[in-house]
Amino acid sequence: MRPGFVNRLSAGVRFIQYPKSVIQYPQFDNAAGGHPVVSLYLNVDGSRYARRGDYEAEYGFMVHEARRTAAENPGFSKDQLEEMDADLQAVGEFLALEFRREGARGLIIFSCRTRGLWQVQPLKVPVKNRLFVDLKPRLAPLARMLSRHRRFGVLLASKETARLLEHYAGEISENSEIFDMVLKHHSQGGWEQAKLQRRHQLQVRNHLKKAGDAALAFFQEKSLDLLVVGISEDLWPELEKVLHPYLKERLAGRFNIDISADANEIRGKVEAIEEGIRAREQEALLASLGPELAAGKTYVGGLDDVLAALNERRVDLLIVESGYAKPGRRCPGCNTIEFGEESCPSCRTKMQAVNDIVEEAEELAVRQDAVVIEVPPGNASLAQAEKIAARLRY
Ligand SMILES: [Zn+2]
Repeated sequence: MRPGFVNRLSAGVRFIQYPKSVIQYPQFDNAAGGHPVVSLYLNVDGSRYARRGDYEAEYGFMVHEARRTAAENPGFSKDQLEEMDADLQAVGEFLALEFRREGARGLIIFSCRTRGLWQVQPLKVPVKNRLFVDLKPRLAPLARMLSRHRRFGVLLASKETARLLEHYAGEISENSEIFDMVLKHHSQGGWEQAKLQRRHQLQVRNHLKKAGDAALAFFQEKSLDLLVVGISEDLWPELEKVLHPYLKERLAGRFNIDISADANEIRGKVEAIEEGIRAREQEALLASLGPELAAGKTYVGGLDDVLAALNERRVDLLIVESGYAKPGRRCPGCNTIEFGEESCPSCRTKMQAVNDIVEEAEELAVRQDAVVIEVPPGNASLAQAEKIAARLRY
C-alpha cells in the first residue's frame, strides 16, 4: 500500500505529486473568517462527452446544485457567497474559453481567487463529477484516484535496441533510448560461423546488461515502484540472467511486444498488468478484513468507531463501500465529524450540517495521510461493518 500523497512543502503549503507536475495549494484548514474554495472534479472523457458543451452542461448542473445548497445552509456569510459566485464564474469561463482537452479525460480545478489560489490539473484518467465549496481545497477524490495507481518503469528490449518509459496514472512518457549496434549474424559455414555466433551472443548479452543497468538507474532516479518488461519469449532468459536483483524483486509482469510499438499500445499492456495487481491486492485485503475486524486490534468497523478513530487522527487506511453516503455534522473549528451533536464534543463550537459525512470522513482521512479505497458493494465483511472500516496507526 502506498503512503499518503499529501506532502508538506513548507509551513502552510502542501503539495501532491502528480505524474508530470505538482499540485500545490495553501493549507486553508481552520482559517478564521475563511474564504470559500471551489474544488471541481470534472469528467471530460471524450468517449462520454463528445463535445465541449456536454461537459460544460455537467458543470452547469453542479453549479446550480452548489448554489442551492449554499443558500439553504446558513454556514456562509453574504461576502462568502459573493466570493463563491465569483470563483464559480471564473471556472465556468475557463471551461468555455481557455481549456483544451488535448487527450485529457479528467480535470481538477481548485479556485479561491481572494487568496490567490488557482490550480488547473488535467488528468489522463477519468474522474467522477464533483463540485465542492468549502473553506479548504477538497482532496479526497484526487488522493483516492492516485492510490489506485503505482509508478511503473517499463523496459522494452530487443537484441539491438532498448527503450525506457515511465507510466503513472494513465500518463506514459519515454525517457531515453539505448541503441546498440549489434553485429549482424552472417550465414557462413564452418569454424568462422561458430566464432561469429559466439561473438554475436556476447554482444547481445552486453547490450542487455547495459539496458538492465540503465533501467536500474532510471528506476532509482525516478523512485518508481514496479518494473514491467516488454521482450520476446526467447530473449527473456538472457535478460533475466543480467537483470539486477533489485529490479527482479520489483518485476510486476512481462509481455511480448514489438520494440517499435507506440506509446498507446505499451500503455494498454501496462494497464492490464496494473489492473491484475490491483484486483489481487484488493482481494487479499478484503479477505483479511473479516478476521481483522473480529480480532478488533488493528481495524475498527462501523461509522461510529471509524469517525472516532478519524477524529483522533489514528487512521492510516480507510475502506469504504462505493456509493455509501449519510448526512451528518462537522465542526468548523476543529474539523471533528459526528452524526448528531449540536456542539462540538472537543471544542464546543456549534456544529454545521453536511450532506455526506462519508465524503467528510474520506477528506479527513486524506488529511491524516491515510490511503482511502472504495470497493464495490458485495463484500460480506464490509457490509457487516456498516460499509466502512479503518485500519489504525496505533
Ligand atoms: Zn471542534
